[in-house]
Amino acid sequence: MDELKRKTHGEPQGEGPRLEAEPLLSELHSQGHGSFVAPALDVPAVRAEDAIPSHLLRKESQGLPELSEPEVVRHFTRLSSMNYHVDKGMYPLGSCTMKYNPKLNEEVASWPGFAGLHPLSPLVGAQGALELMCLLDEALRAVTGMSQFCLHPAAGAHGELAGMMMVAAYHRDKKNEKDTVIIPDSAHGTNPASVNLAGYRVAEVKSGKNGCVSAESLRQVADERTAALMLTNPNTLGLFEEEVLELAEVLHGLDGLMYLDGANLNALLGVAKPADMGFDVVHINLHKTFSTPHGGGGPGSGPLGVNEKLRPFLPVPRVEKEGTRFVLRDHEPKSIGRIHSFYGNFAVMVKAYAYILSLGGEGLEAVSRESTLNANYLKALLAPHFELPYDRPCMHEFVLSGSRQKEAGVRTLDVAKRLLDYGFHAPTVYFPLIVDEALMIEPTETETKRELDRFAEAMQAIAEEARKTPEVVKLAPVATPVGRLDEGKAARELRLKW
Ligand SMILES: *Cc1c(COP(=O)(O)O)cnc(C)c1O
Repeated sequence: MDELKRKTHGEPQGEGPRLEAEPLLSELHSQGHGSFVAPALDVPAVRAEDAIPSHLLRKESQGLPELSEPEVVRHFTRLSSMNYHVDKGMYPLGSCTMKYNPKLNEEVASWPGFAGLHPLSPLVGAQGALELMCLLDEALRAVTGMSQFCLHPAAGAHGELAGMMMVAAYHRDKKNEKDTVIIPDSAHGTNPASVNLAGYRVAEVKSGKNGCVSAESLRQVADERTAALMLTNPNTLGLFEEEVLELAEVLHGLDGLMYLDGANLNALLGVAKPADMGFDVVHINLHKTFSTPHGGGGPGSGPLGVNEKLRPFLPVPRVEKEGTRFVLRDHEPKSIGRIHSFYGNFAVMVKAYAYILSLGGEGLEAVSRESTLNANYLKALLAPHFELPYDRPCMHEFVLSGSRQKEAGVRTLDVAKRLLDYGFHAPTVYFPLIVDEALMIEPTETETKRELDRFAEAMQAIAEEARKTPEVVKLAPVATPVGRLDEGKAARELRLKW
């Protein structure tokens, strides 16, 4: 850190790219550096002109770059280390559960029997894959207490949409006239989007001073038109919804359904079951809680679990065991139908199941206890330096506010960018929306005490800089390959070369 301070307190550089750019392979080319030597010919030589019709022959060399093996390896290694990733260091992105993904999961998913299986192969040759789906369903049922899972949704938001379509199917089936789904003001942005796509109107319920939804405030919003309450628990403030049983009572009294956004179950595994809290339907993100790499655009998996009330409406095809064989059921009269080609993202299921088996029940419970402990430990270290809007024991994550730093002209975005200079990925920022200048931090159970201490030191140093030299924080990042970018533009106009 001294090294960094020297660098950044010295002469802050301007905006834009600053470190040496990595040349393209074509720029690294040197004639004769080619690293491939073909073995001696053991058949008669034929000239290309004699074997290939002339109109298909290239007129001149394509100019492929020639590089030696070390040049190629170093080029790609340098590129891979420019980006931050979970294999490089702590990634405290709240709500995203960027835990370390054991390499064992990747290895198991790449076994030829899994990776080489064609989705159209006859069922007799796919029995192992179908069995794995049934076993994963069983494991998820054990974790949540639900009756059955559908593994098809490709992500959390897709699970939400399918879940809401099932809620609609349930009410249609019972001839209930419902048009509204209630969502707390702290909810993830995908929640209202899914509700709207499924044809419902969104009504908002406000969180109380303790960061939770009270049964009293729910009663003021809920009525006969309420189809469901979509709740995240622990909620996006990292707090356990204290009145969840009363909330379920209110909803069930109106024949409404309880939907759990269970994207992050990291605090519940082996400790508390959504079914016991009164939830009728839940989606889980395998790519968060059950350790599958994510954040680069997928693939993910958002299994959807339901209780007996909603079971008839599950998507098809359903995998079931008939005697000693596994079969697929396509014709279910009340099903909402297909929501994904074939059976969903199978490789992600393999990774999640490998993770579950390698940890076992006790290991999963330890995940919850340790992720909760890590979050509370880090919260205690950071509380003296940042505003803590909800000062209560948290679950697997917690939310700080950068409101004190804002007074010195340093915004949460500046703090997040400065963290990159200290070698950490930034936490989630400006979410949940109900916290001013929010910093949402989820350390996960895979970080050591040493790493948490290092992160807290960096945050403390930045809080100090915000007081003493705010201009330094506002220039960050200065130690990354590129400086502060227009983030919208970076996504829309990808430029790989300067
Ligand atoms: C990540 C997340 C989602 C959405 O999951 P995707 O897989 O990104 O679609 C929904 N709700 C919460 C609380 C989340 O953290």
